[in-house]
Amino acid sequence: MLNIYDFTLEELKRRLHPPFRAKQLYHWLYHRYEEEFEKMHNLSKELRQKLTQDYSATLTKVIREEVSEDGSRKYLFQTHDGLTYEAVLLKMKEKKEDEEGRIIEGEKYTICVSSQVGCKVGCSFCFTAKGGFVRNLSAGEIVYQIVALKRLNALAPEKRVNIVYMGMGEPLDNFENLIQAIRILSELDGLSISTKRQTISTSGIAPKIEKLGALDLGVQLAISLHAVDDELRTRLIPMNKAYNIASIIEAVRRFPIDSRKRVMFEYLVIKGVNDDEKSAKTLLKLLNGIKSKVNLIYFNPHEGSEFERPLESKMVAFQKYLIDRGLLCTIRESKGIDISAACGQLREKIIKEENCGNR
Ligand code: SAH
Ligand code: SF4
Repeated sequence: MLNIYDFTLEELKRRLHPPFRAKQLYHWLYHRYEEEFEKMHNLSKELRQKLTQDYSATLTKVIREEVSEDGSRKYLFQTHDGLTYEAVLLKMKEKKEDEEGRIIEGEKYTICVSSQVGCKVGCSFCFTAKGGFVRNLSAGEIVYQIVALKRLNALAPEKRVNIVYMGMGEPLDNFENLIQAIRILSELDGLSISTKRQTISTSGIAPKIEKLGALDLGVQLAISLHAVDDELRTRLIPMNKAYNIASIIEAVRRFPIDSRKRVMFEYLVIKGVNDDEKSAKTLLKLLNGIKSKVNLIYFNPHEGSEFERPLESKMVAFQKYLIDRGLLCTIRESKGIDISAACGQLREKIIKEENCGNR
């Protein structure tokens, strides 16, 4: 059985007869969020039968939803082979100008998606790393996160969403499927999510950053830097041994960036580890000449983690140091903190509950 969300429109045109039916099918899947081929009444009976026989839109299922006080929603997915992964819908207020220049308040949606079940990178602060690596998600398993979240939240097909590949897994370690997912998501006859609205967050696989840059897809890049010296960074992200800070910065310098955009540098702030002024100073130097924006993230403690959440005063001082010297810098609180904090934690909670049930 093939996952229908694994295919670009061109691929479906080659697979289905007559080819124009592929466009209709895309409309059902991505504009109507329909999952039953039988209900796609403008397709011929033969085609509906063929689709039902060879393809499925329900190989992946949503098995749980949690709502946070701040309005973000976390969803747990289950694959056909019984694995779980998660996606989060973040809702943010947005001020826009209408045609007459009046300020109107709207809502902006961002979907945080997973790219793998588990992760090979093994960061010492990250919950996903604890369970090791299980497998890559297919393009369809990535794409379905967006389809399901839009459907479950009754978001109209034309309602814009931003995608951040910041859930479980290292997206650049699942390169081919990631690229296929980006292409499917940006398909004009489908969800039509511009590549400009898709941000790939990576722990810094330098050669893959170069490879992604060479494709010139127009996607946004976020680098999980977290430390400014190699010794500490290797302690936090063991892969830094293979691709050190200098090699990542080099790759970023060569990455094609839209003239109105910036590369985002994620800096996870950990109490007493990387929250000092000296680090801020080195960070400023490191990013010299790169059109960048720094995002300071509060470390989110989880069971068994050796690190602590930083003081707010330290966060603010770190941010001020950078802003005073002309660098764009925001502070991010992990959204959805009251439901299950950083990436990987909802899945962990469920696995635990299941284990309890088995005993
Ligand atoms: N593997 C990619 C994308 C997924 S991780 C990457 O590392 O960039 C997404 C983000 O979650 C990263 O920026 C990571 O720093 C953050 N994160 C992981 N564990 C965290 C924790 N305990 N508290 C806060 N953020 C965390
Ligand atoms: Fe993997 Fe990212 Fe977690 Fe590191 S922070 S273990 S790269 S998911």
